[in-house]
Amino acid sequence: MSQINWHEEVLKRKEELLAKCKEFLSIESVLDESTAGAGAPFGRKIAEALEYMLNLAEQDGFKTLNVDGYAGHVEYGDGNELVGILSHVDVVPAGEGWTSPPFSPEIRDGKLYARGALDDKGPTMAAYFALKIVKELGLPLSKRVRLILGTDEESHWRCMMYYFEHEDMPAMGFTPDADFPIINAEKGLVDLKVVGLPDHEAEQSAEAEWTLIDFEAGQRVNMVPDFAIARIGGDGDVFELKEKVQDFLLTRRIQGYAEEADDHLKIVFKGRSHHGSEPDKGLNAALELARFMESIPLDPYGANYIRMINSLLVDGFFGEKLTIAMEDDKVGKLTVNPGVFGYKKGDQHFVRINVRYPISADSDDLLKIIENKVADYGMKITDLNHLPAHYCDPDHPLITTLSKVYEEQTGEKARLLAIGGGTYARVLDTGVAFGPLFPGKEETAHQKDEYIEVEDLLKATAIYAQAIYELAK
Ligand SMILES: [Zn+2]
Repeated sequence: MSQINWHEEVLKRKEELLAKCKEFLSIESVLDESTAGAGAPFGRKIAEALEYMLNLAEQDGFKTLNVDGYAGHVEYGDGNELVGILSHVDVVPAGEGWTSPPFSPEIRDGKLYARGALDDKGPTMAAYFALKIVKELGLPLSKRVRLILGTDEESHWRCMMYYFEHEDMPAMGFTPDADFPIINAEKGLVDLKVVGLPDHEAEQSAEAEWTLIDFEAGQRVNMVPDFAIARIGGDGDVFELKEKVQDFLLTRRIQGYAEEADDHLKIVFKGRSHHGSEPDKGLNAALELARFMESIPLDPYGANYIRMINSLLVDGFFGEKLTIAMEDDKVGKLTVNPGVFGYKKGDQHFVRINVRYPISADSDDLLKIIENKVADYGMKITDLNHLPAHYCDPDHPLITTLSKVYEEQTGEKARLLAIGGGTYARVLDTGVAFGPLFPGKEETAHQKDEYIEVEDLLKATAIYAQAIYELAK
């Protein structure tokens, strides 16, 4: 076989790739249970995004399958063995502060901006065009290649659980949903909700100056909340309290304000969103608001909630406060991201927390420690989601093949990486994450003004095309 110029093949299809990317990115494929139904378990828009990809593939002559709206695949090649490429069509909510509308894709200065441009709709389209190139070049394959499209990656991975109950597990595969070169180790992931019930006795005996009416922040447990709001009622000096808020904001250099309403004071703090795997790199608006409120004399029930947040979570991004801090040399430190907060006076209150732990950790032990800690505040753990840690042997042909492809195309060494993020690689028996973010490039997944550089999108497509060919030839 004569040498194929993969990058050249991608350039021939550049305009088409970008046009399809923009169409795909225009679909607001955020989890929306309110529009869920048959064939659309995670809402109408996510189902539409999945259909968009499958229709496109069908028009290009691929075999496709929609597995009840939970997931789907695009298949090419012959043979018994399966090579999988796992990506996802769902995205996290847009959040605030975008320069251009998050679902109206726009190219500025060589960057394609949209929610999902980097995570993971841009890379999904790159992987699709990679498969399309292999097909259009008529390259013979001895294995079948499946581009498997998930729909619930940003929430609970119910898509992949359902898909693999119905379809075969690939012998090996990769997911274009993280960083280049190759990620072969991923932390264990625990999502949990810590819940408390109103303590009416405590409330009746309350004679505090202020009462916490509600406290709310965050939309997703795997994101740092960039916005927190609390409402406080009572007979205290409102003017003094407003001054206190201003002082705190100034000292901590945080944006926000306090505003008087009929019978309460509303306090709003603004932070900086970031991916939950690096909680220390964002600015958690809820933790800052709780930090401020610890100095306010609150009703016992509200005070208990604020005290719990301060004692167990504030300044505890690495598990210091929960006393679960640990690290190993494969994936580094355990992290804790408190992502969603909810408190309503006289009602159930909660914090949803995302913990990412090293490969060497014992998850049962971790949970027991957290359980004991929150019990001190009358709270317990519910809604537990757990994904064990993942590791792929560096000598496996999957890794040696992808390394070779990466090194040939980029001229750079294909170092193996470990991350805290949970990618679809871990649902594969043998899998790694492979791109699309190149070393040193800005990571904007889950943030405002998310983008992928057009050049990088094209480079990734070329790498994926050769990778598919080398793994399945
Ligand atoms: Zn993703």
